[in-house]
Formats: sequence, C-alpha cells, structure tokens
Amino acid sequence: MGSFTLRHIGAVGGDREALLRAVGYDSLDALSAAAVPAGILQRAALDLPPALDEAAAAAELAAFAAANNPRRAMIGLGYHGTITPAVIRRNVLENPAWYTAYTPYQPEISQGRLEALLNFQTMVSDLTGLPTAGASLLDEGTAVAEAMALARRVTRKGSVFLVDAQVLPQTLAVVRTRALATGVDVVVVDGDLVEALQTHEAFAIVVQVPGVDGGLRTPDELRALAATAHDNNATVIAAADLLALTLLTAPGEWGADVAVGSTQRFGVPLFYGGPHAAYIAVRDGMERQLPGRLVGLSVDADGTPALRLALQTREQHIRRDRATSNICTAQVLLAVVASMYAVYHGPQGLRAIADGVHDKARRLAAALEGHGELTSGSFFDTLTVRVPGRATDVVDAAAAGGVQLRLVDDDTVGVSVGEDATETDLAAVAEAFGAAPPTDAGAGDLAGHVREVDYLTHPVFNSRHSETEMLRYLRGLADRDFALDRGMIPLGSCTMKLNPTTSMEAISLPGFANLHPFAPAADAQGYLAMITRLCDALAEITGYDRVSVQPNAGSQGEFAGLMAIRSYHLANGDEQRTVCLIPASAHGTNAASAVMAGMKVVVVKTADDGSVDLADLRAKIAANADTLAAIMVTYPSTHGVYEDTITDLCALVHDAGGQVYVDGANLNALLGLARPGRFGADVSHLNLHKTFAIPHGGGGPGVGPVAVREHLAPYLPSHPLLAEAGPATSYGPVSAAPFGSAGVLPISYAFIAMLGADGLRESGQAAVLAANYVARRLAEHYPILYTGANGLVAHECIVDLRPLTKATGVTVDDVAKRLIDYGFHAPTMSFPVSGTLMIEPTESESKAELDRFCDAMIAIRAEADAVASGEWPADDNPLHNAPHTPARVLADEWAHPYPRSLAARPGGQRLGSLGTGATDKYWPASARIDGVFGDRNLVCSCPPVESYAD
Ligand SMILES: *Cc1c(COP(=O)(O)O)cnc(C)c1O
Repeated sequence: MGSFTLRHIGAVGGDREALLRAVGYDSLDALSAAAVPAGILQRAALDLPPALDEAAAAAELAAFAAANNPRRAMIGLGYHGTITPAVIRRNVLENPAWYTAYTPYQPEISQGRLEALLNFQTMVSDLTGLPTAGASLLDEGTAVAEAMALARRVTRKGSVFLVDAQVLPQTLAVVRTRALATGVDVVVVDGDLVEALQTHEAFAIVVQVPGVDGGLRTPDELRALAATAHDNNATVIAAADLLALTLLTAPGEWGADVAVGSTQRFGVPLFYGGPHAAYIAVRDGMERQLPGRLVGLSVDADGTPALRLALQTREQHIRRDRATSNICTAQVLLAVVASMYAVYHGPQGLRAIADGVHDKARRLAAALEGHGELTSGSFFDTLTVRVPGRATDVVDAAAAGGVQLRLVDDDTVGVSVGEDATETDLAAVAEAFGAAPPTDAGAGDLAGHVREVDYLTHPVFNSRHSETEMLRYLRGLADRDFALDRGMIPLGSCTMKLNPTTSMEAISLPGFANLHPFAPAADAQGYLAMITRLCDALAEITGYDRVSVQPNAGSQGEFAGLMAIRSYHLANGDEQRTVCLIPASAHGTNAASAVMAGMKVVVVKTADDGSVDLADLRAKIAANADTLAAIMVTYPSTHGVYEDTITDLCALVHDAGGQVYVDGANLNALLGLARPGRFGADVSHLNLHKTFAIPHGGGGPGVGPVAVREHLAPYLPSHPLLAEAGPATSYGPVSAAPFGSAGVLPISYAFIAMLGADGLRESGQAAVLAANYVARRLAEHYPILYTGANGLVAHECIVDLRPLTKATGVTVDDVAKRLIDYGFHAPTMSFPVSGTLMIEPTESESKAELDRFCDAMIAIRAEADAVASGEWPADDNPLHNAPHTPARVLADEWAHPYPRSLAARPGGQRLGSLGTGATDKYWPASARIDGVFGDRNLVCSCPPVESYAD
C-alpha cells in the first residue's frame, strides 16, 4: 500500500477490521465478491503506473508545470491576464473552508458562500445594467448558448439565431454545436446587423462587446440595433467583457435583454482555459427563464433575513426534461473569487484597473503607428493590427520577447492588454512590430462610449479595501459555512471525499495557473502530456477506448456523450433514432441533456426492488423499435445498488439498435471493481469533482469527461482553435476551451498517480464497506429502502423516513436540519425517492466519524419517538425547531420543553479548547429558512442596508 492510500482511506488497520466484522465479511475482497455481480466484477489489476508517494507526485506535477511556458499572455479572445490578489488566492482558492464546501442546498449552513454569490450577482447586475443575474454559468461560450435557448423559449418565434461576426470564434463553435440538435439556424452576419434583423425572421441576435477584433460599436448604433430587434420581436443578447463595462455604456442602458460573458479577468487565473465563472443577467420578466442557479433573499424562522437558492422549480432536479437548462454543478468557487476581486478593489479600484488597461492599449496603439494599420479607432484593450505578410514574424518576435500574441492570419496580429502587462511587455510587443517602446502619447479614446450609470455603490463594495478588512470578511463568511474541513458531508451521488492537499497545491503553480488556452502547443507541452496521461488512465479505469476532458461539468459530459450517440446514428443513416429511455430514478440532468441533444425522453419504470423494470423496458423498446437511440442509466443505480440485470439491460438495448449510456457519477462504487466500457456500455461521463477528488467548491468547478468505446471515438468533442483537442469528424466543441477546466486536472492526475491500481481498488472497496457499515448500523432504526445481493448496498444507501413521518409527523427536513445541531451536513434529501435520505459516506471517513454520524441518526430516531409518544408537542420539539442558532440558544427567554444543552449540543460537541466531545461545536448562521417566502418576494442582489434595520 502506497503511503497516500493510508492517508486517503479513513478506516484502515483495526478500524477496517471492525467495519468488516460488523458487515460480516473477513476481507475487502470477500465483501466485493458478495456485493458486485460476478458477471461484471473485474479480477485483474488495472494497468496503471506504480503509485507515487506525495512528494514524488508533487515533483511530477511541478515538472509538468515547468514544461509549460506561459510567457505574458496577450492573445485575448475572451481570456486575459489578471492579478489574483494574494489575500484572495490564499484565503479562497487555496482555502478548504471555501473549496471543500458542497452546493448550498442546505442554506442554514451555507450563508457565507451564499452571501459571496449574492455579491457576485449584484456585481454582474450593476455592471451590465440588468436587474437579475444568476450565480454563475460554466464558460462564456456555453453562456451564449444558454442565452440562445432562453431567448427561444421567451420569443417562441422562428428558428434563426443571428450571430455578430465579431463574436469570439469558440463561442460561435459552441453555439453551432448546441444549435445542431435543436434545429436552430445559426446565421453569421458580417455587415449591417440592423438590415439582417429586418431580412431574417430571427428570434434573437448576439453581439460581442467589444468585438473580437477589439472594436467598439457606438451606444447609438447599439441602441438602433436593439430597437430594430425589439420591433421584430427578437431578443438582444450582449456578450460583454465585464472589465470593459466599468467604463462603457452598460448593455441594459442601450437595450440589451440579456448579457453574458466571462468573469475570468476579475482575478481568476487563466488556467489554460478554465475553470472560470461565466455570468448571465436578464431584464425584468425573464428571471423565471434563467438557466443555472440563482441566489435570493428570504427569511428564517425567526424572521431574520437569510439567503438560499431561489426559483428552483426552473432547474433540472425538479423540472427534468422541461428544465431551463441541464446545468447542475456551475462555477461557484470562481464566482466567489471574482466577486471578492470586486469587493477588494471596489468601484474606484476596478475603474482604475480598466483605465490602466485602456491607457496601455492606447499608448501601444500610438507606438505602432507607421508599423502596422489598426482596424479600429475605438477600442478598450485589444488592437487588431494589419501587417501584410509579416504576421507570423511579428508573433514569433513577440514570443522571443516573452509575450504571446494572437496570430489572426498571415497579415493580421491581435494584441490584448491585461491587468498584468508591464512596460517591459509593451516594449517587447512594440519591438516585435519594429516600433520603439510606447511613450506617454496615446491614440484612440472612449469619447461617446462612456457609461453614466454608477455601479457597486453598496457598502459591501466600499468597505473592504484594506487587506485586514478583506481577510476578516473572508474568514467571517467561511466561518458561517459547513464544509468538509469541519465534518462529514454524506451526500448521496455527490461523493464528497478528501481533496488531497498535495494535489490542490499544484493548481497555483504559475506553469499551470498562467497559461492561456490558445497558447501555441509548443508552450503547453506540460499540460498536453499530463492530459494525455490522465485520459489514458481514465480509459484504463473505465474500460473505454477514448476519453475527452473537454466537458466542464457532468451535465456537459452527458450532452457530449449523447451528441456522440446522435452523430453515430446519423452516420449510419438512422436519423429517426431519437428516443432516449431514462429510468424514473435518473438524475434530472439526464433528461435535460437528452432534450438538448434533440432527443425525446421516454421514462422506464422502477421495479419493486429498485432496479430498472425489465418488463417495462422490453415494452418501451418494443413501442419505440425503430426510433430507439439510447438508454441512459446510472450504475450502480441512484438507489445505491449493484443491479445484476445491467448486462441483460445492455443486451436488450443493443439488440434493438440502441446505444447504452451509463451515467458514471457513481463510479466511486466501481473503482478497480468493474468497468462500464467492458460490461456493455458504449459511453459514460465521469465526474472528476466526485470520484476523482476535485473539490466541489461550493457548487463548482467540475470536470465531466466523456469516455467512449472505439465506434463513438470519431464523435468526441473537438475545438476550432486546437486540432489536437478532438477528432476532425466531430460535431464540434461543447465547451469554450479545448480542454475545458484544464486548470483543475492536475488534482485528478495526482489522485490517480498517488493511489495507483491497488489504491484505487482499495478506495472503491473502502467506500462500499463504509456505506454497508452505515446501512447495517442504521437498519435497526430506519428501513434501508433498497439492497442488492446478500442484503448489501453499493457505495450509498437510502434511509426511508416515510414510515417515521407517518407515525410521528417528523419529516425529512426535520431530520436534515437536526443533523446540523449534531454537527453534520445533511445527506441528499428526497432524491431519488421523495421522503428519504441518501447517504454516501465515501472511503475518506474514519470509523469514529462514521460512528458519530450513526449515533446522531439513532439519537434523532429516539427524539422522533419522544415526539410520537407525546413527550414533546409536535410543534415544539428539538426536531421541529432545528437548527438552533446562537441567537436562539443565547436568548434571555427559553420557553421550550427541552433544555438548551439538548438544543445546541445534542452530540456533546466541544465548546471550549479543553472541553470534552469529539468535535468542535458548529453554529449555523440561520434558523430554518423559508424558501417559498423568498420566491414570492424575489430579491437577487444585495438589498439596501436599511432593509436589515428591524
Ligand atoms: C452529479 C450528477 C450529475 C451531474 O453532474 P454535474 O457535474 O453536477 O453537472 C449527473 N448524474 C448523476 C447521477 C450525478 O450524481
């Protein structure tokens, strides 16, 4: 066993033996043999390099980083040099209190990151001049695609989507991919947009601000464009650079209905393309159509203002195939970084940064006079320079001077100034063009473009400009939240395991952090080598032939995989194959992704034992014999069971001409134990932010690689700016960057390298052992809904609370919120079966923590019984009143029929440094939050301070 394996797995040695004894097996292998169907159990060891210890893995990552050559990235195209304030890098990006948090579905323990996201929404709303902004999307390209889908839903007219020729090339390619399957006709307009709006029956138009060549349309031009669009009932989408908007007329001012873009240059490293938070903001009346998550204000049970996710009925986990989008994991951690950049700099600071960037661009423009011809006289940060026949020479000379420029074509060079560009860089650029270094003289200005509307006037953006204040603000917010650095987060299906510090450290190495996604391949050798080896390892682990890491969330991997299936059927002349069978228990993203890939969802029933009902499957296949495209199943199922019918299921679908998609989000139960690519599936997506240790970040980043067998390999995603990113036969890209969220791939690389074949298998086995241990201990107190062979579960188990609710009135919510008092994050609530809790302990938890959790659940059962027996009234008991905040417990009045100590310290948590108890007391920031109140009174940006007065 490699040394990291011992650090990663929570229960080893005597503790592991105790767990095994409790479950009734004498070894991990015996348990696997009993739990995993013999037909799929993998006996041979995976063919992976020997495990590295932590120091060796760190050295290997450092070598990969050193093999990249970021130079100074002045390529532009939506990715810009920026300076991450050290106080934010160390205390957010590198701080487990932020990066190990889960998506804020339990708002009472998430007020810190929810406030940071509300700041993000306020920042976006202010800068775009549009009233409602979401809490982040995946990248700029997909954000424009989401805006296109939104516009189509709202406008309900025609199928033409007009795209300004000034739109970023990768955005256009992502939009084309999305348009393919849904019958949208993408028309690129390289000329008069107003005329195009008059001649096409378009449902929407997207314009880029500033354009890809750096040029700016005047506000009057944009106003005329918006007016014509609105006359023709078309939605206007602005893809806008947020830093430019600190100086320019806001999209909302000139009439845009929707604004989207990236917030990368607000302090988020380039990361070779991601992760970065994209933004979306909409005009009034569109908020119920927003894709992705939205944070809103509500009140808690004490009437205190509190935040939670708003309007969730739009989302895939509720609306399924009628959701506004398939986005689940987004980019929370990066949105927090961007919002804190705005908090730290404030409106004046941001304006100064933008002025600095603009001033450098102007001085460079003046210096280049006579050495090339600028294509536009008004620009913010980007110059496009015509140098007939000399472009390659100029780009090469700049590289030699330490700067990467954009080679537009043989005659044209693009130069984009970022916050990090120095005078030395500017001189090197000038020299590459044969010009003298810039002086104080500038060319071009923003007269006529300047915004009049103020922004970021809220106190939060005007009071944290010293490092001390910033540090304390970050610490204060983090203290409100419960993340993995405090205790177990037993979330079914989300695999909240250890995020190893050794692998996290690598993401800040300049060689990984500062590389531009469109840097020449010669400057990206470290990344390219690491990505190849990671893809090979993932292929070996899953039994597939080819892997693409481009999708930047599980949902995007689903879309990519379904697009591969679609392409395959089309190539075979089977364009009628558009039906996607999806079991009733599937994750909501499955249905939403199928719709995006142009498929029709047909639901397959669940049998009594929780497995896919094969009789119903046969009937649905027969009913859709000619039109069957695919089945999408999760394995092990979301019911937490290894179904032994999986091979039959694959055969039935294949015999009918369909393809098998296995949702790999539950791969933690298969690590080293079974390989979907070998037991009958054609394609899967994986969730590196679940199984492969990338942190959840409070709701992103994610990486959702798509893995396929050989016959689907020609249909993996590609990229218009990097041929190496995918096959030439592809339908195109699904993400803006060639390798999606490349910057977090070192985390999974190191995780696999440090565990090796044996460690991965042992992790999978330990995860299954932990789940069975919890199931065994809880079974005497709560029914376990589904079990498979030998009464065993896979890596998670579903505790059925419905009988308890019926007998005592205590609900799933009561149990989940009471767990907070005991110092736990609640398990997954009411998915996939309403009225239940789905528990996934993962391999990383120790026996002591598993026991603490089981003890808490058992104690809660006794509390429920006390309610049932009448000892406590149904509306005044520790469960009903949970969670108990300091404000409640410290109140002068205490009128409840149970003591304060039971309210706040039911598990005997430690209160002082020398107190007794297994863990320190965690105090929730809010009492139970009323979600409905907030949906009725929607407030999604920082409210005026006076509103907190009472
Ligand atoms: C998490 C999950 C997904 C979606 O992944 P995201 O990264 O959140 O988009 C899909 N299916 C299942 C079963 C999941 O658990």
